[in-house]
Amino acid sequence: MANIVLKDARKKYGSVEVIKGVSLDISDGELVVLVGPSGCGKSTLLRMIAGLESITAGTIEIAGRIVNDLEPSERDIAMVFQNYALYPHMTVRQNLAYGLKNRNTPKDEIDRRIAGAAKALEIEPFLERKPRQLSGGQRQRVAMGRAIVREPAAFLFDEPLSNLDAKLRVQMRVEIKRLQRALATTSVYVTHDQMEAMTLADRLVVLNAGRIEQLGTPIELYEKPATTFVATFIGSPSMNLLPIEITRHQSLAENAVLPVGTATLGVRPEDLHLPEPGTSGNGFSIDVTVAAVELVGAESYVHGFLADRHPVVFRVAGRSRIAIDDLMRVHADFKSLHFFDEAGRRLG
Ligand code: ADP
Ligand code: MG
Repeated sequence: MANIVLKDARKKYGSVEVIKGVSLDISDGELVVLVGPSGCGKSTLLRMIAGLESITAGTIEIAGRIVNDLEPSERDIAMVFQNYALYPHMTVRQNLAYGLKNRNTPKDEIDRRIAGAAKALEIEPFLERKPRQLSGGQRQRVAMGRAIVREPAAFLFDEPLSNLDAKLRVQMRVEIKRLQRALATTSVYVTHDQMEAMTLADRLVVLNAGRIEQLGTPIELYEKPATTFVATFIGSPSMNLLPIEITRHQSLAENAVLPVGTATLGVRPEDLHLPEPGTSGNGFSIDVTVAAVELVGAESYVHGFLADRHPVVFRVAGRSRIAIDDLMRVHADFKSLHFFDEAGRRLG
């Protein structure tokens, strides 16, 4: 059982605390994605789990063992980095074998594991090549192969796909998911890309300035973001946030009440609709002056602004005849609205 448990893990560089007390319980076989903007502490947290950074306070447990004082090599984890970190003078086969030889793994066992990984990753034709003779995508596969042959208790990924072009990134993302499922190896995956995070994760951890902002399944975070930070970070284009004044108490679902005062209303671009013939347009509606229409294939995003110049984005299916400077009334179902208090915390 290779679960990973963090209890109030902290990291200070000098007097600056960059990881401010993270507690997290990752189940055996689970793929947890750490996502957040650049500089929020994702790599630091991953490196603390790996043992590449000491921890200032708290505990880290891997497979039931507190590893705070263990060297990376003693933690039974394998890391995959963005820059591949392959040995340039070695062939792919030698790169894959290297870590196993160092652990005195018998030769036939090494051969068996390399054959298995090479097959799973479809890198068999490149085993005798040097890394420089491979494309970026092939190198990344080798880097993953090197992690797989170790048969570790856990995989730790730090933005492994960031150097690849967009198409290859999507392809590799699907493959990583498939492999991780097949191997059922506990994994922690770091990315700043919310789309990658949403599609890969069993559970997502949104980090903001060294703290967990929210933890949950991708759909939970999408449907019920706990803060305006998560609301705008998860989903693309971002959720619209509109400042509102609540003038009398309003009841929300699940017995929540909107207090009187300043608040923020959130509505996703995909939840705003043009009025359909025969509907009353009940719920929430706003008038948007169109500034730009972006066709992105199967749908278009209309960017515009309200009378007070507040920007708004909404989605329409396919091509649209909407033109710049059109004044459009768009609706949202009351159920699809999100409300946040002045501090940006979800209400209801
Ligand atoms: P991310 O991976 O989310 O982009 P990092 O974990 O690399 O963020 O960095 C988190 C914060 O810690 C940043 O503010 C960064 O400047 C700081 N930091 C990272 N490494 C060091 C270091 N070795 N010394 C001092 N500060 C560091
Ligand atoms: Mg990083």
